[in-house]
Amino acid sequence: MPSNQQLYLMYAGGQWFEAASGQTFDSVDPYRGHIWARLQRAGTEDVDRAVSSASAAFRSGDWANLTASMRGRLLTRLGDEILRNADELATIESRDNGKPLSEMRAHIRELAKWYYYYGGLADKLEGAVVPVDKPDMFTFTRKEPLGVCVAITPWNSPLMLATWKLAPGLAAGNTFVLKPSEFTSASSLELCRVFEAAGFPPGVLNVVTGFGTEIGESLVSHPDVAKVTFTGGDAAGDRVAALAAKHRKRLTLELGGKSPNIVFADANLDNAARGVAAGIFAAAGQTCIAGSRLLVQEEIAEELLERVGEIARSARMGDPLDGDTQVGPITTPAQFNKILEYIDIGHQEGAKCILGGAAKAIPDAPTARFIEPTIFDAVLPDMRIAQEEIFGPVLAAIRFQGEEEAVGIANNIRYGLAAGVWTGDIGRAFRMAERLQAGTVWVNTYRAAGFQMPFGGYKKSGYGRENGLEAINDFLQTKSVWIGLGDTSDPFRMR
Ligand code: NAD
Repeated sequence: MPSNQQLYLMYAGGQWFEAASGQTFDSVDPYRGHIWARLQRAGTEDVDRAVSSASAAFRSGDWANLTASMRGRLLTRLGDEILRNADELATIESRDNGKPLSEMRAHIRELAKWYYYYGGLADKLEGAVVPVDKPDMFTFTRKEPLGVCVAITPWNSPLMLATWKLAPGLAAGNTFVLKPSEFTSASSLELCRVFEAAGFPPGVLNVVTGFGTEIGESLVSHPDVAKVTFTGGDAAGDRVAALAAKHRKRLTLELGGKSPNIVFADANLDNAARGVAAGIFAAAGQTCIAGSRLLVQEEIAEELLERVGEIARSARMGDPLDGDTQVGPITTPAQFNKILEYIDIGHQEGAKCILGGAAKAIPDAPTARFIEPTIFDAVLPDMRIAQEEIFGPVLAAIRFQGEEEAVGIANNIRYGLAAGVWTGDIGRAFRMAERLQAGTVWVNTYRAAGFQMPFGGYKKSGYGRENGLEAINDFLQTKSVWIGLGDTSDPFRMR
């Protein structure tokens, strides 16, 4: 751990180190408005150092020589250490991204389960004996790790999203270079300390800090990197996908969304109202799974919007480190401006703002960037506020008449990360679950995730899956082994 808590060093091969250039950058507390941490601004030399540490750890030494069961036990110990350090990690995360400490604590305590689950899987990654249709052959497959994996994470939930990558990737035997967002890097560096306490050998986890355009691209295209697992926005995702294709890297992409939360007249309206509010106002809407499009059946629209508005008005906004706070500030100035721009766009497009619609001043924190929970009614499906990811507390309400129309509106979008359905009709629940084009469909619930359930996008929301048994396959490759049991035959004929 860095000697001075405010100055963070990077971590590679078990050593803390400064950027070769000597340059740093600042992390600002989004509530208090002051610089609270200084980070190393990595360049390509630092990227090389981190990748070569990860590569050395993958090829030989304590990690490479561990049995799969021992690897699993290390992951289990990591889960224990996460629990031991959960409060400290949550405080750092909350300080950095402005999300309420109460939610961050719960999040981080939950992450231990990912390490327990994938720790348990580490020694169950079996190949198969294949009965090939050829005499004198014994054939089998082996499941092997890929090598050095690069994990790139966004600012909204750094440790959760890093864990979704690290836990399956490490269980499979890979090593990692992690690059957190330049806005929220501190908790990923603290994670290295937790790895050390769990007993991980040097070089298994390496963390470089800096800017996407400066080091993200050199990480993705680095010749010694086998796989990239990326969570972030559309623009960076496009760039990463292009580079990964050019350099033939395996890639998992978790991108944005514009998820519909669909409420039918036969739903329990109290439950639905809470689900709709949770989908868009929790975390100030800064989540990829935000239910940012409310599709509501015409006859209950007024009543539902009234109830959602009531919940939104009661949200306690304030200091994220205060245990009672439910909604914190917007994390970055750019994001704050972007949300306000979209509110303007909503007005210009002719949608009707029925709640919020402006920045909110908090007297104790004059520089903090809060935005009032905002609801636009009378939104048409092709308006920009109904099609583009805002990543803020702005709900676009679209009214529909019947199920067919709801499905059409819900699917008429380039994203497909998640969808919510609220109904009392079991048949409709199953029909909707089948027809919605989204990687996750929640029925009569919203914003639930778990280590056993695959998570990922349809369409432009990305590809590959995190969590569950599937995720580990994205960190493995299959080798086919043929053993000839007899004499070799005609050299000019394929066997
Ligand atoms: P971002 O795309 O700006 O940045 C994400 C990460 O990519 C950062 O670490 C950044 O430094 C890096 N990066 C930026 N440009 C890069 C480049 N050219 N090459 C390599 N790396 C680069 O996203 P953000 O603003 O930090 O996060 C918000 C976005 O993340 C939203 O769109 C949100 O929907 C998405 N997100 C998706 C999920 C999911 O699981 N699908 C989860 C959370 C957030």
